[in-house]
Amino acid sequence: MLLYGSLAGGLEEVPAELFWQECRRIAETYLGGGRERTRQVHALVDATIDALIERDQRFGYPPPFCRKGCCNCCREAVYCTDEEAADILDYCRENGLEIDYAKAARQLDYLECDAGLDHTGVTRWNDQEPEDQTCVFLDRADQSCRIWPVRPLVCRVHLAEGTDRYCAPHNGVENPHARAIDYPETSYILSVVFTIHRDSIRKTMGRLLLGAAPASPPQEK
Ligand code: SF4
Ligand code: SF4
Repeated sequence: MLLYGSLAGGLEEVPAELFWQECRRIAETYLGGGRERTRQVHALVDATIDALIERDQRFGYPPPFCRKGCCNCCREAVYCTDEEAADILDYCRENGLEIDYAKAARQLDYLECDAGLDHTGVTRWNDQEPEDQTCVFLDRADQSCRIWPVRPLVCRVHLAEGTDRYCAPHNGVENPHARAIDYPETSYILSVVFTIHRDSIRKTMGRLLLGAAPASPPQEK
């Protein structure tokens, strides 16, 4: 089982039976979701986060700092499932959005991959030209996400409190001052979905997009 977010930090305090019950509940819902399961799980994560933020505010905690144009977290390799990548491509086609495939290909040169083309986690991301360090979907004009409705799960759960100053990792290493907000509820969802898609998830979004790209992909002007 792949573990993410707060679950990756240690399971010692989680009773085994409760852990598996929760994983099974999420997996059965997801696997039974058919063709719409990606959009359904995105909606579930969004609703879960909204409810948790509302709960925290009732206890006097401020909402996350995250807002439109706040994009230090969009400067690293992004993971997504093969189905999320397919959904993103459909969205781009439907909305006439071009993808800078050449940039996506250049970015792969800065990720160490194994024989199966899975990213090993070792990265020289910040050795790239500054322009290449940003996600291919970050709008250059207003620094917003061009595919917001279909952005991957990892982007939905990435939240920080207080400031965006420490949100950019350096070559995959998180800033020690980072103030990420990790909700166990979303860590369960991420862990279950990524485990189900373990064959595609470590390809990274860039490789999945390139793999599904047209034979002569159009380039951004
Ligand atoms: S995670 Fe950090 S950089 Fe990303 S939107 Fe939230 S505050 Fe901004
Ligand atoms: S998909 Fe959108 S939110 Fe996610 S890293 Fe790219 S620009 Fe940022």
